Amino acid sequence: MKIETKCLHAGYTPKNTEPRVVPIVQSTTYVYDSTDDVAAVFDDPTKSLIYSRFENPTVMAVEDKINALEGGIGAMCTSSGQAASLLSLLNILKAGDSFISAATIYGGTINLFAFTLKKLGIECIFVDADAPEEEIRAAFKPNTKAVFGETLANPALTVFDIEKFAKIAHENGVPLIIDNTFPTPVLCRPFEFGADIIVHSTTKYMDGHAVQGGGVIVDSGNFDWTNGKFPEFTEPDESYHGTIYTKQYGKAAYIVKARMQLMRDFGCYPAAQSAFYLNLGLETLPIRMKQYCQNALTVAKFLEAQEAVEYVNYPGLESSKYHALAQKYMPDGTSGVISFSIKGGRSTAVKFMDSLKLASNEVHVADIRTCVLHPASATHRQLTDEQLVAAGIDGGLIRISVGLENIDDILADIQQGFDAI
Ligand code: PLP
Repeated sequence: MKIETKCLHAGYTPKNTEPRVVPIVQSTTYVYDSTDDVAAVFDDPTKSLIYSRFENPTVMAVEDKINALEGGIGAMCTSSGQAASLLSLLNILKAGDSFISAATIYGGTINLFAFTLKKLGIECIFVDADAPEEEIRAAFKPNTKAVFGETLANPALTVFDIEKFAKIAHENGVPLIIDNTFPTPVLCRPFEFGADIIVHSTTKYMDGHAVQGGGVIVDSGNFDWTNGKFPEFTEPDESYHGTIYTKQYGKAAYIVKARMQLMRDFGCYPAAQSAFYLNLGLETLPIRMKQYCQNALTVAKFLEAQEAVEYVNYPGLESSKYHALAQKYMPDGTSGVISFSIKGGRSTAVKFMDSLKLASNEVHVADIRTCVLHPASATHRQLTDEQLVAAGIDGGLIRISVGLENIDDILADIQQGFDAI
């Protein structure tokens, strides 16, 4: 099946007389004929359902759909994108370990990595993703267990060279985790370039209508957890009556462990109702992504031609430093998100944004409606000037998430913003 068809049909195939649309299973629990049946489910939880803190049929239908879209071996939804990033790493790392991350990533993820994980004894080594390979190799330490990057960084809109990082990660015997939120699998499928794990904030384009918050982790099934660096996968899990994940679940060891161990303990699983909304968004994802890309390219070209604009970050533009990488990883378009810096810095940026009428000021992105945000005042407010520069942000930077309104109306709104400054 092609991706448009998978978006509609993967994950749920109704049988004779069953509902056409994936049903909302609003139940926290499931029943069994006997105590032996319950015991058997605990022996191998992948065989049946136990409890809605970590599995639910509505959510699982969506997990199977997203897994099919990314081409993985298994997926697990979470209650937010943050939870997906957190669990994707905690499934591998423990206190005393380190991991490498691109410095140009979403501000909330920087918080999680630089501050919260640090408190848990896990060190994040930030690198310039554009640095030469030797510099990135030199950042590895004996305790480094993973590498993390965003395909299209929020809000710097840099393109992460997945193949380059996959090669370096694998030379060091560790997996590459990719946040593929902005491109979605419609525009880029990181497993095809060597990534091992993918995370998403499904709050963004996958849902697209700003009605549910969620995340997902997808496992490619390709990483070799038996290479000696990951005893948690190859030695008995005493919290799960001695399960050895690689032995019992083979290629699905990572994603089964994420559910059985981490989701069981942290419980950040989405509600069935949220998964239902997410599924509606996924059904139209390919057609929406096509239109977002078309509208955003027009807006990016318009912005580039403005005297008041210092620079435009949109890898779909031929003038972009990342255009060649974008052509390689996202040949069909680079999403609806653009960032640009306005001459005059912070105060002019604020004046421009407050003058917009159609585009709303929102702490959100990838919505069906056009919205704007000033990262230095909002999502990246906590960063030092040095961290802001590393994350590709200055005072004049505005992030615009181009929606699906008619392009003439979007451009007219931006024009009247420029007229007001
Ligand atoms: N990853 C990216 C690229 C994001 O933009 C965001 C949120 O903006 C997240 C992860 C976190 O997702 P959520 O807000 O669903 O927790």
